[in-house]
Amino acid sequence: MCMEKERGKMIERLVSEGFLRSHVVKEAFRRVRREDFILPPDRESAYSDTPLSIIGGQTISAPHMVAIMLELAGLEGGEKVLEVGAGSGYNAALMAEMVGEKGKIISIEFDHELAEFARGNIEKAVYNSVIVLNGDGSKGYEKEKPYDLIMVTCATPEIYPAWKDQLKEGGKIIAPVGGGFGQELVLARKGKGKLVKENHGGCVFVPLRH
Ligand code: SAH
Repeated sequence: MCMEKERGKMIERLVSEGFLRSHVVKEAFRRVRREDFILPPDRESAYSDTPLSIIGGQTISAPHMVAIMLELAGLEGGEKVLEVGAGSGYNAALMAEMVGEKGKIISIEFDHELAEFARGNIEKAVYNSVIVLNGDGSKGYEKEKPYDLIMVTCATPEIYPAWKDQLKEGGKIIAPVGGGFGQELVLARKGKGKLVKENHGGCVFVPLRH
């Protein structure tokens, strides 16, 4: 199924609503086929601006929420990113477009079946710069540190110390911080070993699991 037209319309809508602003993020949205990261029965809804169920009660975020987070990320090329919550792999694929061949995306997924799902979707879309791992992302991933960006896509009660420790000086953490019913989207920047936090509005994500 070719859904290029629908994809174009979604991008126009997100631009007119002010969610998509930069060339880099727009181009990433143009290149990644959201229909390839969702379950077949939902394909027709691939470009409506809603979250969609994937496997085991988890969801792929609504496109406008993905756009908000990627605009905050401000990736320009060559960065190393840790994602917590691979889910479908869609957000990882978008970030792979943004960091280019010199960059690297390490995406950790807690659920084994979802890690397989994300890996399969990423492989089909041929993103060689993405590695999907199965594990608990609240501990970060020591082996590949330090990161320019840690992108958390599940609701977390706090910014875990491991994330701060594994972040580069000047790096960013983007995370929905709060309880099960609603969170605040937080952008934290690391300077002189400390995190300086900014709030970027309310959001609702599925909870981080241990
Ligand atoms: N970024 C995804 C959407 C993520 S949904 C996408 O683009 O499709 C949130 C995901 O976080 C779920 O898949 C859930 O299983 C995962 N998750 C929950 N707790 C986690 C943890 N401790 N470590 C890693 N992943 C976790």
